[in-house]
Amino acid sequence: MERHNWTKQEILEIYNKPLMELLYEAASIHRMYHDPNTVQVSTLLSIKTGGCPEDCGYCPQAARYHTDIEGNDLMTVQQVKAQALRAKASGSSRVCMGAAWRNVKDGPEFDQVLEMVRTINKLDMEVCCTLGMLTENQAQRLAEAGLYAYNHNLDTSEDYYKDVISTRAFQDRLETIENVRKSNVTVCSGGIIGMGEKLEDRAGMLVALSTLNPQPESVPINALVAVEGTPMEEMEPIPIWDMIRMVATTRIVMPKTQVRLSAGRTEMSQEGQALCFFAGANSIFAGDKLLTTPNPDVNQDMEMFRKLGLKPQGAFEKAPQPATIEEEDSKISAKGENPRWTRPDHKIDRNEKARARTKYSN
Ligand code: SF4
Repeated sequence: MERHNWTKQEILEIYNKPLMELLYEAASIHRMYHDPNTVQVSTLLSIKTGGCPEDCGYCPQAARYHTDIEGNDLMTVQQVKAQALRAKASGSSRVCMGAAWRNVKDGPEFDQVLEMVRTINKLDMEVCCTLGMLTENQAQRLAEAGLYAYNHNLDTSEDYYKDVISTRAFQDRLETIENVRKSNVTVCSGGIIGMGEKLEDRAGMLVALSTLNPQPESVPINALVAVEGTPMEEMEPIPIWDMIRMVATTRIVMPKTQVRLSAGRTEMSQEGQALCFFAGANSIFAGDKLLTTPNPDVNQDMEMFRKLGLKPQGAFEKAPQPATIEEEDSKISAKGENPRWTRPDHKIDRNEKARARTKYSN
């Protein structure tokens, strides 16, 4: 069950637990709600790059920063279709289209995006958009075109937000999320760690996300990719342990959400990523670019999946829920065996699952 009253203190206590305990708890909760061997794969496509009027301190697409990003006008529907087909052939079940806009403006460009949504839908793929701020009516039009998810990250805590972005407020983000929620489009919202924030800010961001009711269906956790020319160009990369702790904590406070291991994977070893999957990450972005920053090649990812025994989730396929303890026990009993002794994981798993259920449910 989702809990919507997490406090910053509670979340910090989880984040700071001894690592083995944190991993065990997160992995146990992950198994209660998701198939631990299935990972959803999305392809992020920049349909309109650069020239953005906003001042997000991490973003090379902001027009005011001198980065070597090549700007592009809005892609055509045909270009997007070709890229979506390529993504599908390489195992992606979702295409996420990103446009470097402050907010969506009604008019021919938005109509073109709606047509892109309809086109990808016909390919039997999930479609997500990240286009900036949205009105309720625009969210509704996207829903009617068949949009599956809308991404709008909170980025960080409310307290730290103004140190990262000054051209809009935290409240604006929440309003767009609310507008999306009013349509039947699912919500994808997360943030970035490694922007100079304190642990309290990471916990604060998780408070803001987990207290949304319902919680977002998808929560991307990004590690900052410091790009030359942005105000954050000199930020040191975060240790992998921070990423693992953040993923595990997200999984514990938002048990049903799809936790997305997003930007920063090129800096992570496969061992580090494996620990993130163990801790509850169950989605990645595939393709060698994440909008404008580097990402592991799709073949490398599929090779990592093979090594770890992971399989990509199909489009519109909810990760299968594992059997409950009672269902497992009745299957064993039907064979004339005693579940108490037959299930090898009986002693640890049964008790831990029961304890975790009590602790994280309300
Ligand atoms: S993150 Fe989005 S809104 Fe912010 S500058 Fe980049 S493209 Fe613009």
